[in-house]
Amino acid sequence: MAKFVGAHVSASGGVDNAPLNAMEIGAKAFALFVKNQRQWTAKPLESKTIDAFKKNLEKSGILPKYVLPHDSYLINLGHPEADKLAKSREAFIDEIERCRILGLDRLNFHPGSHLVKVSKKDPEYDKKIAEAEYACLDIVAESMNIIIEASRDSGVKLVIENTAGQGSNLGYKFEHLAHIINKTEDKSRMGVCLDTCHTFTSGYDLRTREAYDKTMSEFDALVGAKYLAGMHLNDSKPELGSRVDRHHSLGKGQIGWDAFGFIMNDPRMDDIPMVLETIDSSIWAEEIAALYAMIE
Ligand SMILES: [Zn+2]
Ligand SMILES: [Zn+2]
Repeated sequence: MAKFVGAHVSASGGVDNAPLNAMEIGAKAFALFVKNQRQWTAKPLESKTIDAFKKNLEKSGILPKYVLPHDSYLINLGHPEADKLAKSREAFIDEIERCRILGLDRLNFHPGSHLVKVSKKDPEYDKKIAEAEYACLDIVAESMNIIIEASRDSGVKLVIENTAGQGSNLGYKFEHLAHIINKTEDKSRMGVCLDTCHTFTSGYDLRTREAYDKTMSEFDALVGAKYLAGMHLNDSKPELGSRVDRHHSLGKGQIGWDAFGFIMNDPRMDDIPMVLETIDSSIWAEEIAALYAMIE
């Protein structure tokens, strides 16, 4: 089976260092930030950095389609305020351009947050939150259409990640991902990244064969496994359905090793980048080797 596993490696000192960092841990895939993830703007990539990135990527033997860049944490493509929404869209388009220049074909992002505050004591709490969520999902879908149009020649796929559903973050239900894709005109530019920690803490169990099959068939029915363009492999510190996002090293959290065995033997995860975002980078090489050893 064709599995491509790696980790979200450091790009400090320049994006060209990322493929080398991936090589060091025996990765066949990796994630990176294409600019500082905590700042709005960055100077354009220099041509010597671009050349060095491509040279190092070739040296690593990792194909561009197994690189899953992650967007900045500041971007909210569902922002309720027009000026901040415009700023997010502009920053995202700039990140797509960076991916294109580096020869990469996909960009991973979190759907967005509605930022609406409703008191839990409000008798209409559930109704008001659901309204805020679907209004926000519509804004995210509008962002998709604008961004795809603005980056038409890049071909870079917009890869939505499911979330734990902390605070007002959207994307903690497969229905949310489906809603965004359904309202996006050019679906050929859309992809999905499932994060195992987020899947689990948003309430989808993965721990047993039965639970895993149920979760994945639900995903397939609502979203479609054909959209899978990446995976984040993380164990979880918090429990099932806690809606808290805290990663753990594989096998050390609430999910446990079995789930990762199911994934490593699931043909739906063939030929896509699968990336560790686990908390102890000193054991990434071991975690990658252990995952490959689970292939039957
Ligand atoms: Zn993730
Ligand atoms: Zn996370």
